[in-house]
Amino acid sequence: MEHTMSDDKGLKVSGAPNLAELHASPCYQLPAEDRRALAAVIECIEGIPCNPCETACPQHAIIVGDEITNLPIVDLDKCNGCGICVAACPGLAIYLKKHTFKEGLAYIAFPYEYVPLPVEGQTIKMVDRLGQVVCDGTVLRVVKIKKNDRTAVVHATYPNGYYEQVVNMQRLATD
Ligand code: SF4
Ligand code: SF4
Repeated sequence: MEHTMSDDKGLKVSGAPNLAELHASPCYQLPAEDRRALAAVIECIEGIPCNPCETACPQHAIIVGDEITNLPIVDLDKCNGCGICVAACPGLAIYLKKHTFKEGLAYIAFPYEYVPLPVEGQTIKMVDRLGQVVCDGTVLRVVKIKKNDRTAVVHATYPNGYYEQVVNMQRLATD
């Protein structure tokens, strides 16, 4: 069942930021709908002492700065959508997005640390920040490299009417 914004009490109650909290944070920048390339989206709004996203980015597109509790800010003009920060973030707080990958379809690449992993072409359930199912998606590819340890990065498409709501996929059942 699809939930509504009124169900979403925000970070302190649910453990996940709601859209109002994200929109109030300079950390959160949703790539414009006319942007042609994938870009990193960061949902790390609590000022925690952490900066692997900054050190991992080869383009120096993410800045935390000298004060380790600064919010990470991505410079979308520098970000080339490589995805290295997605697997580097221990908080699983970064994904890539693009509004229009194909007619009516958005693109997302998100971290996924469960087994089984999805496979290319599989239909998956896309979820919001509370883990609630929003819509179906289709897996484009799954990137699993040694350097990323056990964090796979799943690339998928989904209807772009849900561009902002979708952040990950529902965990797959184990047989
Ligand atoms: S996607 Fe690549 S270029 Fe963009 S912020 Fe992440 S690591 Fe940097
Ligand atoms: S690595 Fe992740 S959790 Fe750490 S500051 Fe960057 S976005 Fe936040």
